[in-house]
Amino acid sequence: MQAIIKTEGLSYIYGKGTPFESRALNNVDFEAYEGELLGIIGHTGSGKSTFIQHLNGLLKPTKGRVLLSGRDIWADGSDIRQVRFKVGLVFQYPEYQLFEETVFKDIAFGPKNMGLNENEIRARVLEAADFVGLGKDILDKSPFELSGGQKRRAAIAGVIAMQPDVFILDEPTAGLDPAGRDALLANIREYHRAKNSTVILVTHSMEEIARTVDRIVVMNQAGILMTGTPHEVFSSAPQLEAVGLSVPQITKVFMRLKSMGLPINASVYTTEQAVDAVLSLTGGGTHA
Ligand code: ADP
Ligand code: MG
Repeated sequence: MQAIIKTEGLSYIYGKGTPFESRALNNVDFEAYEGELLGIIGHTGSGKSTFIQHLNGLLKPTKGRVLLSGRDIWADGSDIRQVRFKVGLVFQYPEYQLFEETVFKDIAFGPKNMGLNENEIRARVLEAADFVGLGKDILDKSPFELSGGQKRRAAIAGVIAMQPDVFILDEPTAGLDPAGRDALLANIREYHRAKNSTVILVTHSMEEIARTVDRIVVMNQAGILMTGTPHEVFSSAPQLEAVGLSVPQITKVFMRLKSMGLPINASVYTTEQAVDAVLSLTGGGTHA
């Protein structure tokens, strides 16, 4: 698989040269492949947000390089504006960045900056709104008339409308209720399936990441602790727990059952998967 975005020896220090110097990234080597749905997990303060802000050039490395399609984004002659169109970043609590008169204009802001024509902008806004489940009736409203969840969706649609090659979401489900969270994760999976572009989901929830992504990068203390499929990562439960991350309860139960000799699949992260696993044990097939 080809890496679309890569970092080499990436380090970042906040407030370098001041008494408040703080090393937020330490020598990070990272790769995300074309078309993959990748998760980045780590507890608060591990460096996730600092890291992803390097991927679209919002922060400049103190040391090391960021390569987009093999090219150093900070090399002489590189156009950082183009990098920001290609690597779309949804910040944590993005709803605070809505500022236009209508939801339509807010979603259209990125495509407009890219210099697209009216027809193309309109088509992209409608498609992006559809991906996040915002109806057409919402588009002419003021963002301030929307519910919290709808505002979040509008802000996410604004990045989707730029049709980035790499789409990064920083804790997109933070503060949503369980139904809102599940619906948004389903939207993200659907977007990835339809566009086949690279999607990077940042979260601190193991349950959330396990049922959404294909590969996980675990961050801890300004670096990458491990990388692997959800199954591989969860097989290192003690190592995860040592850094304050816990494997989903249901996964622990199934790993334990397997170690006790039951002929079951140990890759169980959700209640639905647990039901399937139990039914297959009793020969009952999959649940409806
Ligand atoms: P995460 O997203 O995983 O919670 P962050 O990247 O926000 O982690 O933070 C990594 C480290 O950098 C933390 O120790 C945090 O306190 C520090 N940090 C983050 N933003 C700033 C900033 N603007 N100024 C100084 N230190 C910061
Ligand atoms: Mg963060």
